[in-house]
Amino acid sequence: MEKMKEKPAISKATTKRLSLYLRCLKELNAKNITRIKSSELANLTQVGSATIRRDFSHFGELGRSGYGYNVKDLITVFSGILDTKEEKKIALIGVGNLGQALLKNNFRRNDNLNIVCAFDNDPNKIGQIIDGFLVHDLSELPEVFVKENIQVAISTVPSRYAQEAIDIVVKNGVTAILNFAPDPLNVPENVNIRYIDLTSELQSLIYFDEMVNPS
Ligand code: NAD
Repeated sequence: MEKMKEKPAISKATTKRLSLYLRCLKELNAKNITRIKSSELANLTQVGSATIRRDFSHFGELGRSGYGYNVKDLITVFSGILDTKEEKKIALIGVGNLGQALLKNNFRRNDNLNIVCAFDNDPNKIGQIIDGFLVHDLSELPEVFVKENIQVAISTVPSRYAQEAIDIVVKNGVTAILNFAPDPLNVPENVNIRYIDLTSELQSLIYFDEMVNPS
């Protein structure tokens, strides 16, 4: 299969679905399933097969009519798009319940995503080693960001303090931020911020489940 040289321009929604397809395809591959039709993938992912075919069409001729898609080929293409080839060094801001869970996990399934430093403003946490990380004061952030070449930040600071924390992160050059507090923040145009809102994810899941499995 021809190797992709550049990442194609795809929408945020498609990128999200790619990650869902990839997870599903890896599960199929682990079960030694070698090919799949879009209708079967639609059943597994609950994404409509027309959407799947449209998403896949961004990446050239991936399938053959009547044959479906080769699972391993799709995994190669989608991993190439989603996986970062270089290590991304990530800073965690907010070493509370959620922050500590992330430090413990530290994206162990992906070698290129690594939280390398952690920050908090609680004097009881600053200077402590928590889950193997020295908790830095925010005043140390500029120096640590330069030393560690931080490119991405995750904030698990509660909503009401998130803006001040993100302002410092942005001021120190980070343009990719994952924020676990759902309230929208003000960031400059060049900064990409994503919100993980578990409540709305769960509500939408329950709504969908009640639609397809009415009681
Ligand atoms: P937490 O109170 O346990 O932790 C928050 C941490 O942020 C604390 O250590 C606090 O000292 C620190 N902090 C506060 N202001 C700061 C600042 N300006 N700079 C740096 N650090 C600062 O809270 P949590 O349970 O980890 O939740 C954090 C956020 O994630 C909340 O917005 C919550 O709604 C959201 N969330 C949490 C969970 C969960 O399972 N805990 C799930 C979904 C969403």
